[in-house]
Amino acid sequence: MLYTRPDYYKEFTCTAEQCEDTCCAGWQIVIDSASMKKYRGEKSAYKKKLHRSIHWLQKTFKQDKEKRCAFLTEENLCDMYLNLGEKSLCRTCRQYPRHMEEFENVREASLSLSCPEVAKLLLSRKEKVKFQYRETEEEEEWDDFSPFLYSQLVDARELMIELLQNRKLSIENRIVLCLGLAYDMQNRIDADELFGCGDVIENYRKQAYFSSAGRKVDRYRKNIKAQYQFAHRVIEDLYQLELLKEEWDMLLQEAQVRLFGKGEDVYAEIMDEFSEWIQTEYQWDWNIQCEQLMVYFIYTYFCGAVYDERILVNAEMAVAAVSVIWNLMAATWLKNEKQLDLEDVCSIAYRYSRELEHSDENLKRYWNILDEEKLLFR
Ligand code: SF4
Repeated sequence: MLYTRPDYYKEFTCTAEQCEDTCCAGWQIVIDSASMKKYRGEKSAYKKKLHRSIHWLQKTFKQDKEKRCAFLTEENLCDMYLNLGEKSLCRTCRQYPRHMEEFENVREASLSLSCPEVAKLLLSRKEKVKFQYRETEEEEEWDDFSPFLYSQLVDARELMIELLQNRKLSIENRIVLCLGLAYDMQNRIDADELFGCGDVIENYRKQAYFSSAGRKVDRYRKNIKAQYQFAHRVIEDLYQLELLKEEWDMLLQEAQVRLFGKGEDVYAEIMDEFSEWIQTEYQWDWNIQCEQLMVYFIYTYFCGAVYDERILVNAEMAVAAVSVIWNLMAATWLKNEKQLDLEDVCSIAYRYSRELEHSDENLKRYWNILDEEKLLFR
């Protein structure tokens, strides 16, 4: 079995009651079967409180009116943990924000961006993310799993990450290369030419592709209408998802009113001024932050295409994510009288991730919407 994880994985520490936005509120925590069994058999004096705080049919923890977990104390500590210890926690609570994607003979660990501490870790990091590998003797064989497609996806993802981390190119250029690679691979898969994916990957190592991507970026920079439509659309699409937190709705409304309300020319003026401010006055490097976000989304989701062969939408989803975050940054900057700091950016990034990544339903729906719209390839 091959285990993979990003090199910042070990650096994470939960800040518990110091956390600015606890993960124990705002979403339904589903209890795994082993924990349900353990809770049913609890014999200590804590049994009464434990049993009263679980929806036994739904297999979730109960919440109060503010959607706070029934075990969350006023000090934002877990009452179950305090009374029964760490081992009593269900799988989700034990692992969060650690996340695992599973493939035949491979386990890929990541940290979810939806935790404010992870967002800080990722967005304040200047070095390129590296990945760590460990191999064990265990082996497994899955039905309905294509090791060949998976290996092509892994190779493509490796190159995408290499391209995204090529700091000699502009960030837009790197993103276009990444999208182009996914687009060409999707065409091969749709034409039943899986064996052609290797050629596609090799092509994207060539300098000629870099120049062609550069020309596309130049054309896109001049096309205000396309920029406005894409940015507006991917934010509007978010209204079709189940809202998990009110604050998210407020952020989206800010963007609607401040950025998109007055048409594409005003939008272009605002974004020009904002980009200039980001380059000259922002204390952090957005190009690096954008790279870290793209690498995060591509690493976490791209190889999942082995289950449904939807390669392109996984890359589009990463682009939509950075576009939404970038535009919400601009709206927040306007609201803050043209100021923005790392905390603001982390807050936008983790809230985006919470709305999407804390709900499989939302994630699937957003994927489907982007897949149908094909906004970047019209
Ligand atoms: S959101 Fe992250 S830092 Fe905050 S309580 Fe949860 S795991 Fe800890």
